[in-house]
Amino acid sequence: MNAPLARPLVFHRPGDSELARRLRGVVQGEVLFDRASRGRYSTDASIYQVEPIGVLIPRSDDDVRAAVEICRELGAPMLPRGGGSSQCGQTVGAALVIDGSKHLRNVIAFDKEAMTVTVEPGITLDALNAWLRPHGVWFAVDVSTAAQATLGGMAGNNSCGSRSIAYGNMVHNVAAAEALFADGTEGWLGPEREMQGAGERVRALMTGLRAIAERECDEIERQVPKVMRRVGGYNLDVFHPQSERPYTADGSVNYAHLLVGSEGTLAWTRTLTLKVAPLPKHRTLGVVSFPTLYKAMELTKHIVTLGPSAVELVDRTMIELARSNPSFRPTIDGALVGEPDAILLVEFTGEDGETPRRRLDDLVALMGDLGLPGQVVRMPDAGPQKALWEVRKAGLNIMMSMKGDGKPVSFIEDCAVPLDHLADYVARLTEVFERHGTRGTWYAHASVGTLHVRPVLDMRRDGAAKMRAIAEEAAAMVRQYKGAYSGEHGDGLVRTEWVGWQFGPRLTRAFEEVKALFDPDGLMNPGKIVRGTKMDDARLFRYPPGYTPLKLDTALDWSAWDVNCDPVTEAVTAPGSGNDPAKGFAKAVEMCNNNGHCRKFDAGTMCPSYRVTRNEEHLTRGRANTLRLAVSGQLGPDFASEAVREALDLCVSCKGCRRDCPTGVDMAKMKIEFAFHWQKKHGLSLKDKLVAHMPKWAPWAARFPFIANLRDALPGAARLSERIAGLSAKRTLPQWRSDTFLSSRAAQAAAVDRPDVVLWVDTFNNYHEPENAHAALRVLQAGGYRVAVARAGASDAERDRPLCCGRTYLGAGLVDEAKHEARRMVDALAPHVAAGATVVGLEPSCLLALRDEFLVMGLGDEAQHLATRALMIEEFLAREQREGRLALPLKSLPQKKVLVHGHCHQKAFDVLNPAVAVLKLIPGLQVEVIESSCCGMAGSFGYEAAHYDVSMKMAELALLPAVRAAGDDTLIVADGTSCRHQIADGTRAIRPREAVHVVRVLASALDPVA
Ligand SMILES: Cc1cc2nc3c(=O)[nH]c(=O)nc-3n(C[C@H](O)[C@H](O)[C@H](O)COP(=O)(O)OP(=O)(O)OC[C@H]3O[C@@H](n4cnc5c(N)ncnc54)[C@H](O)[C@@H]3O)c2cc1C
Ligand code: SF4
Ligand code: SF4
Repeated sequence: MNAPLARPLVFHRPGDSELARRLRGVVQGEVLFDRASRGRYSTDASIYQVEPIGVLIPRSDDDVRAAVEICRELGAPMLPRGGGSSQCGQTVGAALVIDGSKHLRNVIAFDKEAMTVTVEPGITLDALNAWLRPHGVWFAVDVSTAAQATLGGMAGNNSCGSRSIAYGNMVHNVAAAEALFADGTEGWLGPEREMQGAGERVRALMTGLRAIAERECDEIERQVPKVMRRVGGYNLDVFHPQSERPYTADGSVNYAHLLVGSEGTLAWTRTLTLKVAPLPKHRTLGVVSFPTLYKAMELTKHIVTLGPSAVELVDRTMIELARSNPSFRPTIDGALVGEPDAILLVEFTGEDGETPRRRLDDLVALMGDLGLPGQVVRMPDAGPQKALWEVRKAGLNIMMSMKGDGKPVSFIEDCAVPLDHLADYVARLTEVFERHGTRGTWYAHASVGTLHVRPVLDMRRDGAAKMRAIAEEAAAMVRQYKGAYSGEHGDGLVRTEWVGWQFGPRLTRAFEEVKALFDPDGLMNPGKIVRGTKMDDARLFRYPPGYTPLKLDTALDWSAWDVNCDPVTEAVTAPGSGNDPAKGFAKAVEMCNNNGHCRKFDAGTMCPSYRVTRNEEHLTRGRANTLRLAVSGQLGPDFASEAVREALDLCVSCKGCRRDCPTGVDMAKMKIEFAFHWQKKHGLSLKDKLVAHMPKWAPWAARFPFIANLRDALPGAARLSERIAGLSAKRTLPQWRSDTFLSSRAAQAAAVDRPDVVLWVDTFNNYHEPENAHAALRVLQAGGYRVAVARAGASDAERDRPLCCGRTYLGAGLVDEAKHEARRMVDALAPHVAAGATVVGLEPSCLLALRDEFLVMGLGDEAQHLATRALMIEEFLAREQREGRLALPLKSLPQKKVLVHGHCHQKAFDVLNPAVAVLKLIPGLQVEVIESSCCGMAGSFGYEAAHYDVSMKMAELALLPAVRAAGDDTLIVADGTSCRHQIADGTRAIRPREAVHVVRVLASALDPVA
């Protein structure tokens, strides 16, 4: 077993417990000083890891005030934090982290006339824009992390969006700010002309700042890059504007702009007043294909003269990545002319439709004049435009999902160079990468000369040396081209060292004076922008040289992650060749790069528990970090620790992350692995045993259903079950039936020799809702298929017991028992598969286990073959229909509308669309999908007393309100057993609604006379 990593900044000083104690005494918010919480806040989207002293999640402004007071008295540093999506290490440090993103997220005031909105710092850009939309305006600094970036964080980093050429950076859009300084004083910072009434503290600041700026006037003129995208250092140039786009329209001074880009080093930002813009009424997009990347970059400067709102680059690698994805291929192919080496997405907006259309014509003409006639694809409609922007985003995500120790590293990702030099910069930097045995993919904001590129480096080995060498060469070019070394992402730990390089010793000293004016004791986010560490100080790395995970005997096969990847060719070595002592599990966990994409509340599934609690601990990122710390011994020598169990407790294994996480972090699978180690060490509770072994005792329950169902019939029995087994008394349990499907005459009769289809009926549908299985059989037979019903094989020692996927065992970590069930399934179905039959199932979490968990259980080739032929019934029917082999005799139903709730696994495996497609076969039926995350029941999760509240909150996020709003003429469809149960439970009190399996709707629409 390896020793925990030695890190220089692991703080647990004598004063820390005093800090925690005093905070707990006064604040209403959460005070987190335990090792795992500190670990979860020790990283952001950078390569660094520094353990904070502790974490405060303030519930109110008063909590922050109290914390500042206590920190000042104890001399403890403070670190403001929002979504923690910074790429440069701004939000990691040995300080008290104050995370405003959970509670401090209100809109305080909106002034439509002045076109301003005032917000608390923790609100995200998406949330703000959702609030503003009904007023016809938006906040236009459209960072690509809009779902997780908080306005406090965006101001802290002086963030910039894709449309900055039209709207500017944060600094151009912040009108005023209220600050809380480290000495406990407060002040309003805004336009100088409105600050006559400022208090003593702010007046002193104003005088001091002006004096420094006057003194350094000539040096500011000499050293501050003139490009718009300059976000490094402090904005001392507010007094002598240097940016090609002045911070204010009339060049006047706004003191709030000193806080913008200050990375939490000057003050806590209490509120921000922001300028809003009218929502563009019309957009149009022209996609220009270029024969070379060089040409694209060379001609960008001509394109921007047309006044576009965005010019975004997508290079060849990204084009190919997008084309390799079947769902993106049509979109990207439709945007290309021939086989370009790069494309530029050129967007125009306008109040009327005519202006953007004319601009698009101008673009076509311009490209002709520049020697590229016929190279523009016009996209005037919103649908294709949106699809193409999605492709661009997804391309980046695929790039980030590189397996192995080498990863694309962000450190020169946002250098900004004047457009005249963009082409040369790209060409020369590409050569630099080649010389260092790596390469980068280019994308993003060509319009403002800020191209994103991340060379692939292995920070555990020679990455640090290469990083410095590449950084130095890139910096020399940036200087030569009079660009900005930090053009979007800020300084943080990776670039504070370069502030002196960029601005020279005089301005560096001036910045230190600015810091001293605001924060004389150096308590606010120390080590950022001034007095920093070296970018390649390996002691601060998340993966320092020598980083080694613990040895772990894994239950599942993680060898697909245990590989290495060539940074240039991207060739991946054989599974299991990556030297991971945790047999690939550690490398799977390390796929989380902390980008924070899981902190979202949009239409996707990920992450239901975070959506309810808003706690980092209950976020996919928080869980991945907890596992990473545990598997590398940083939470102690024991992997199966309580800290990990707690972090995973509210994970409903929905697999939302498997689909929505850009790097495919599959927490549901990781939870199985952890549960295996946990139960080995700690054993199982009665409830876990009861649920896990259900496939074994189900036949007995079906034989004596009146006894098995007593829990819900006998007064007091439910409460007793809560006390003894932890099953919530507020829940009814699924009822056991003696008329199981497998014992029915229909099932017995369905025994054909060479079936086209084998209907496998899972434990839940067999014992609790056999009508679903009957409906499936009827539909398949009506489709003209020869159907067999899956049963245990002849050599199976438990021949009479129905087949089961083992899902309940997996949930409890009983992987060996689950493997036994899986083996029975594979053995029973292999002959059918070999004969070419398709296996269809009804319950998403059970059937899809055949395509997922079965493949990491070491079940061999037969399991692989089975996976290729295992389909949800709707997938099978939709496929047959598409290929012209299905003609179900369907008549219209009395109900004209159906609302579909997708089971999480259905969504994770993209199986919801087939359900919609088959429902649309019913004449006159209008099909609508509920934009819901997990229903909250998630197998046995919602039945547990400890999870009941969270479970109901998950359901109330979107699902139950949508169901309640549905009229009586609307059918509710849900394929998941537990989803149906949750809908029944959640609507029982007022207007009970029953959800049905999709196959029941199809069966009821079968025309008996056809
Ligand atoms: C995949 C990816 C894509 C990205 N795309 C973009 C992009 O398009 N454009 C862009 O500009 N950036 C981008 N970023 C960087 C990052 O998302 C942005 O800088 C974002 O605005 C940070 O917001 P946050 O809430 O996560 O802030 P955090 O990272 O939490 O904090 C940022 C800084 O603000 C300070 N801060 C936070 N709250 C306060 C407060 N209340 N008072 C004082 N200081 C505070 C912090 O101390 C820190 O220094 C991207 C990052 C990733 C991982
Ligand atoms: S789990 Fe995925 S989405 Fe969340 S931070 Fe990690 S990589 Fe990003
Ligand atoms: S499986 Fe679901 S609940 Fe668990 S981390 Fe992933 S998205 Fe969140």
